[in-house]
Amino acid sequence: MISAIILAGGKGKRMGANISKQYIKLKGKPILYYTIKRFSESKDIDKIILVLPKDEIDYCKEEVLDKYSLHVDLIVQGGKERQDSVMNALNELIDEEIVLIHDGARPFVSQRIIDEGIKYARLYGASAPGVMPKDTIKIKGDNNFALSTPDRNTLVAIQTPQVFKLGIIKECHKKVKEEDIKVTDDTMVVETYGNKVYLYEGDYTNIKVTTPEDLILAEKLI
Ligand code: C5P
Repeated sequence: MISAIILAGGKGKRMGANISKQYIKLKGKPILYYTIKRFSESKDIDKIILVLPKDEIDYCKEEVLDKYSLHVDLIVQGGKERQDSVMNALNELIDEEIVLIHDGARPFVSQRIIDEGIKYARLYGASAPGVMPKDTIKIKGDNNFALSTPDRNTLVAIQTPQVFKLGIIKECHKKVKEEDIKVTDDTMVVETYGNKVYLYEGDYTNIKVTTPEDLILAEKLI
């Protein structure tokens, strides 16, 4: 069995809007609608688990799921940090072979990215799509001085879905929680315990709608 966890448990403070960013509308429909639809349309996904803040569950049911006749198999309450939200969802999974973990704020994920993620996670245990950064990236030191410039050809900007064999991701998430390690995504969770993550070609259009500028591009992409 293959399940997809769609994370919409955050409030999206960087957007500066008074509603959570996943409900901002693109061509009249909320961002989260497009994200869920992409996973509903995948023939490989058996179950969708949606993670929401407790106080948004009723709103989301009415304004996204019921309104646009979208089906999810389970709604799970979000946690304080992203990694807590993921853990809450993983705790609900038992029989899955593969789990995809995706940001609710990435509505442009393609079927190719979903399919390849599953294929490579089956082969290697963990996979994630990524693109080469367009800018030169620097490591910043003290007092705003650059410390060094990594070779751009070795850098990848990682996107979601991040795809894993369930046993690996569940065990590693349990450990980071026990050891109180802070992570920014799920590939970091498995890497922390020596697991290798296979990186494959993402898409520049698979953006995470995070700041107001992103909405301009999102309107065009939709
Ligand atoms: O904050 P950031 O943009 O990295 O969040 C990525 C995704 O994780 C978003 O879709 C957000 O809703 C989700 N998230 C969550 N629970 C949190 C914080 C973020 O599900 N506590």
